[in-house]
Amino acid sequence: MELFLLRAGEYMLKKGSRPLFEKQMQANLKRSLKPYLQRIIMRDGRIYLQCVEGQRKAVSQILNKTFGIADFHWAKESPLVLNEIKSTLQALLETEGVSDALRFKVDVKRPNKSFPMQSYDLSVALGGWLLDLYPQWKVDLHQPELTVKVEIRERVYLYLIKHKERNGAGGLPVGAVGRGVLMLSGGIDSPVAGYMMNKRGMNLVAVHFHTPPYTGEEALQKVEQLAQALAPWNSGKLSLYTINFTEIQLKINQLPKAEFATIVGRILMMKIARLIMLKEDARAIITGEALAQVASQTLESLQVTDALSPALVLRPCVGMDKQEIIEIAQTMKTFATSIIPAADCCSLFAPDRPATRPKIEEVADLITQLAAEDLIEKAFSQAKIVTYPQREA
Ligand code: ATP
Ligand code: MG
Repeated sequence: MELFLLRAGEYMLKKGSRPLFEKQMQANLKRSLKPYLQRIIMRDGRIYLQCVEGQRKAVSQILNKTFGIADFHWAKESPLVLNEIKSTLQALLETEGVSDALRFKVDVKRPNKSFPMQSYDLSVALGGWLLDLYPQWKVDLHQPELTVKVEIRERVYLYLIKHKERNGAGGLPVGAVGRGVLMLSGGIDSPVAGYMMNKRGMNLVAVHFHTPPYTGEEALQKVEQLAQALAPWNSGKLSLYTINFTEIQLKINQLPKAEFATIVGRILMMKIARLIMLKEDARAIITGEALAQVASQTLESLQVTDALSPALVLRPCVGMDKQEIIEIAQTMKTFATSIIPAADCCSLFAPDRPATRPKIEEVADLITQLAAEDLIEKAFSQAKIVTYPQREA
């Protein structure tokens, strides 16, 4: 059996709604760890996972993409007896291959007061014993390279924290905060936007608009790969709606005032996203828009988009530099896919000189002229829906 000790993230601080978050956390762990999980115990802001022997790496990889966990450690447990604690600790150090000269400290917590030794006495006893075992080690209480954690509860839990080692995705358990519809293009920003709202506890479905035959198979494959990469962060699964936007796009192209084509297109996409929102019982649309990144994202353009958008639009990238967005895309492993060149309808149909200061009335007029309500309904009703990861046929 492999034991993992998890520390719950910031939802622990929520007084009234904490049970709700805990329930969601437990459900998410059960689902994403299904092949490996044997037992799950939630107690005092800690989560104890007992997993199938030999699956430490697989479980760690999933936990690293599970929001709601402040940090987690692979641990060993021992009975409440000093000699047993020592031999378990020795086995743990040997498995972890920690024996080089290093600065360490022992950190004991003793919520279980029935254990006869005080925390301080136990840490001194274990520290001295470790120095005998590893004479090249040094005690360093302030900047240790290795912290030996000992938690005395109904059993004793032992684990190691190596200096600068970071794990745990942070955030809130996905699903605890409601659902959203992510507008997923093939670019760098929108997958990051999805990740950020996942991190705040939203569960997502994604929508992609394509314009065949103007956009090709490669563009679709890219988005499928992105959906595949986003699924683990979305608590293991992500449904992608693919919408044929060609008819609407061609109609937009016939409008006068070509400089407004992008923004009109964006608002029509949002109208379709709203229909998905209603069907999926979601409450917001999420985009990868970032202030002043391109013409359709100037403050004036965002103001118009917002005024004419049919639902709450969340833009978690709005205040971020491109470089910051790229760094997140690299961590979440979508960057390499996002930069594969493939024509996207936004770039393909972008006007030569897009408006940077559109007026609400002008854009609203154009949308009225389009009279696209039927086309919107039709595009939505013909959506292709696939859930990722896809099982191999
Ligand atoms: P990204 O890197 O996410 O493509 P971007 O900076 O290229 O964003 P735009 O092309 O102006 O910006 O698109 C802004 C946002 O509109 C995107 O982040 C995405 O949320 C949404 N969007 C644009 N095109 C599509 C599309 N074809 N399908 C779904 N959503 C789209
Ligand atoms: Mg784009």
